[in-house]
Amino acid sequence: MMVSERAQEQLERLWMAEEDGSAGLSRSEYSIDVMRELQGGGQVVIDAETWKLTDSGRKEASLAIRRHRLGEVLFANVLNEDQQKIDDQACRLEHVLFDGLDESICTLLGHPRNCPHGKAIPPGECCREMRSHQAAAIASLIELKPGQSGQVAFIQMGTSGRLEKLMAMGVLPGGSIKLLRASPTFVFESGYSQFAVDEEIASGIYVRREL
Ligand SMILES: [Zn+2]
Ligand SMILES: [Zn+2]
Repeated sequence: MMVSERAQEQLERLWMAEEDGSAGLSRSEYSIDVMRELQGGGQVVIDAETWKLTDSGRKEASLAIRRHRLGEVLFANVLNEDQQKIDDQACRLEHVLFDGLDESICTLLGHPRNCPHGKAIPPGECCREMRSHQAAAIASLIELKPGQSGQVAFIQMGTSGRLEKLMAMGVLPGGSIKLLRASPTFVFESGYSQFAVDEEIASGIYVRREL
């Protein structure tokens, strides 16, 4: 069902309240008109003075959050925008990233798990497929055993900017990579250099294994 932009933003706020583990929005945090609109559409119910998402409201909200956060990753990683600009623009972008387009953007970005703020991006159909079908061929560096090698398939950008530095040092999609040592520090060889990274970074490097 199509909801107004204001209603969609309200849905997202409710969803984020759930994400943060709070009970719901209290009376001062919402506009009653917007809630009535959502209630009419069966997306929210009022329960003990707080508004809660219904299953269909939660589904709609999670899609909106997904588009919003994918938009943020797109701005941050591809367009290299700074954080302030991202925060200003991402709300607009999510209305452009309608269903279907979000899968293309998600695939282009390597099915990111987190937005630049470190919040989880609800996975789409494309992510679930990628994770089940390609699981055998493509694995995160932390799933490799020392001695195993392959090619860098893609690199998932984190919040720290350290992966970008790795790429600047020449660890790039298509390049060869061999894991030398695992946990707690992951040591790998790529090109003619050796790198030592922590688990967080290693988990963002996806390798197409040589079978
Ligand atoms: Zn974010
Ligand atoms: Zn995806």
